[in-house]
Amino acid sequence: MRANTVVCLGCMLCNRVMDCARSFPRCERCQQSLPWIAAADDVTFADIVSSAPVPVLVDIGDGDEGNERVAGTAAVHLAIERAGALKLVKVDNEASPNLVQRFAASSPTLLLMDHGRVLARHRGALSIATLRCWLDDAVRDQRPVSASPPVARSNPGHSG
Ligand SMILES: [Zn+2]
Repeated sequence: MRANTVVCLGCMLCNRVMDCARSFPRCERCQQSLPWIAAADDVTFADIVSSAPVPVLVDIGDGDEGNERVAGTAAVHLAIERAGALKLVKVDNEASPNLVQRFAASSPTLLLMDHGRVLARHRGALSIATLRCWLDDAVRDQRPVSASPPVARSNPGHSG
């Protein structure tokens, strides 16, 4: 299983963060949540995405690291900003033909997934601000709506 070295923004300790884990990674020293950024392909996707304990932002696109896309940059920014609540998984579309077909993601695509279920999807690049709003909307839409008061619809009466 792949692991990344992640520097804790709280105490600057270098931590090893596994791509796949049962709980969100925390700093060994100060217990602050660490940004969780992993990579997945056709083989590892189920383990890395479906088993994640938090919603997963899946960034399917060109895996060329030397040509960082706007969408990828915004996604990384949000993963750092929302450490503890959001996992980012990058998928190289050229190395993952099955995933590209499964999610119809021939062009760069963002998916928000929770336990293997797609909550929302967006095709193309998003700015950081737009991505933040998109994530908020997608998560809010998943909350039960039973707590909200019923909408009273009064019909003005005369219809025809
Ligand atoms: Zn720390």
